[in-house]
This record gives sequence, C-alpha cells and structure tokens, in this order.
Amino acid sequence: MVNGERTWTGPIHGRLGVLADDGNCAQCHICGGYYGNLGGHVTQVHGVTPSDYKALFGLNATTGLIGPALKGIRRQEADVRKQTPAFAEFRAAGDRARSELTPEQRSPKGRRLRLQQRLSPKVQAARRAALARANEVLRQRKEAGLHTPAGWSGRDPKAISAKGHARLAELRTDPAWRDAFARKVSEARGGRLQVTCVVCGVVFTEPHSHRRRKTCSPACLTMLRASRAAGRQAAAAPDRDQRRTAGIGLGDVRRQRGWSIERLARQSGLSPAHVSRIERGLNTPSFAALGRLADALGGGPFPARETTASDQSVNGVQAQPSGDSVAA
Ligand SMILES: [Zn+2]
Ligand SMILES: [Zn+2]
Repeated sequence: MVNGERTWTGPIHGRLGVLADDGNCAQCHICGGYYGNLGGHVTQVHGVTPSDYKALFGLNATTGLIGPALKGIRRQEADVRKQTPAFAEFRAAGDRARSELTPEQRSPKGRRLRLQQRLSPKVQAARRAALARANEVLRQRKEAGLHTPAGWSGRDPKAISAKGHARLAELRTDPAWRDAFARKVSEARGGRLQVTCVVCGVVFTEPHSHRRRKTCSPACLTMLRASRAAGRQAAAAPDRDQRRTAGIGLGDVRRQRGWSIERLARQSGLSPAHVSRIERGLNTPSFAALGRLADALGGGPFPARETTASDQSVNGVQAQPSGDSVAA
C-alpha cells in the first residue's frame, strides 16, 4: 500500500490535498467512510500514522484529522485553555524561540509545500505577489541597463572559457584549495584506504586508486618480491636445496682426497671458480654438474637423496653412507 516514495498506490476516495467532510465527520481517503476522529480511524483500521496519512494525501502537517463537529468541541476546549497563564507562558516561549531564528531558518528556501498548502488561496495570493515583485525588480533593472539576459546572448563563449581557465590557474596556486580539491576527488573515488603492510604489519593509508598496494615502503616491497621469487624458485625446482647441499658435500670429499680445486676442475671439466662456488653453497649445481664432479672424484661418498625424474645424470654414482656424508 505505502511504498518507499511515500505515495499512495491504492484507490483514493475524495481529492488529494483536500480533507472532505459531511458537515459532521471527515472523509477517509483510503476507505471513503466518514469519521469524527479520522486520526484514530486511519491508525487503527489502516495501520497508517496520522503524519504519514497527511503526507500521503497532500494534507498540511498542521491539519487536524477530525470532523467539523469534533473540531468545534476541541476548539471550545482550546479556547478555555488559552485563558490560562500556562498558555501565555507557552506562547511567549514560542515567540522567543522564533526571534532567535535566522530569516533562512524561518522560511527555508527550496522547501516543498504540500498540496493542501499550495491549494490554499492565501498561499496562491502570496506567490502571485512575490512573482509581481520579482517582475517589477526585473523591469527596473532593464530600464537602468543593469540586466544581462541569461544564456550566451551578447557574450563570447571563448572569452568566458578563458576567464574560467584563468581563475582555475589562480586557484591552483593556492595549496589549501589544491588540498581541498584533492580531498574531494579522493572522496568521490571512494576515499582513502587503511592498508596493513603484508611484510612488517605497519598500517598506512592509501588512496583508493592504489588499492593493490600491499607494502608500506620500498624496503618492504623488495622483501616481498624476494620472498615471492624464492617461492617461485622453490616451486619450479623443489630439489634445489638438495642439489646445493650435495655440492657442499662434494667439497668435503675433495678435501678428504687431498685434491686442489684446480685438479677437480680439470678432471670434471668445470671452471675452478664454478667448483669453488658450488662447494661454498653459493651456486646450485645442476644434476649434470654434480654427476661430472662425482665421476671425477671416482664415485666417492655421495649424499643420499630422494630419487627424482632428473636423476639420470648421476645414476652411475652410488650413494655410500659414511660418517661425514652430508644429510640431504
Ligand atoms: Zn478508512
Ligand atoms: Zn612494511
């Protein structure tokens, strides 16, 4: 019945903005019946509050939802109350409150009158008078040559545009204006975000446009990239650590044999620098390189490790458990 727009979608009895009566009771816009106490009726029978009812059917908020008979009785009661000192005090308080309002607060611009208000002869006369006053002011301004018609007539759009750009350039030199403008743009784009650095856990704010950022500083970003790269390498070559450990183990074997790095390099066909780096764990040798080193050392103790598809190159070398072999 009542949708979100506060309009009535059902059938309407009587006219919008008019509270009809039969000389005794007021007519209900919803069911068409006549009721002395219409406010009570709409609340109890239709489940609509009096203020909603007035808004739905265009009645003034100050209109009482009662028939003329009850209104007469209520008015007599009110007249009695108005004689009391309490009422005089009440009215004086209202006057005081109103005197403190600004003219804008007293008659706010842009307020929308309800239909009953707009239909009232008093309001219509006031609107006609206001229009006549405005027209008179316009006529006087035209006579005095002060009036500029709306639109582009008589003005050069290019000159106006240049003026606008010049003003914008002037505003841009003001840091406060630039800050306010940046804030406005940021808010329009969804405001600033609270982001927690995934590396160090520091919370920082970022504009919405940088919402993919995950780290607080270049240092943290470098660490994040390094850890991602390590993760990728581990995923691409899960036996990497084992190969490096095996390379270090072969260095122990070489020293047991009493060989120099140069001799092992010569025998295996690798460069001395490469052999040195493999032994120090700085280079991760391929299985082919490990096989050549092991062959050169004559199949000495080789660290045991899990068998993988890429074992072919070192198949000739038997793993011989010994006291000083390096665990994989
Ligand atoms: Zn009704
Ligand atoms: Zn950080």
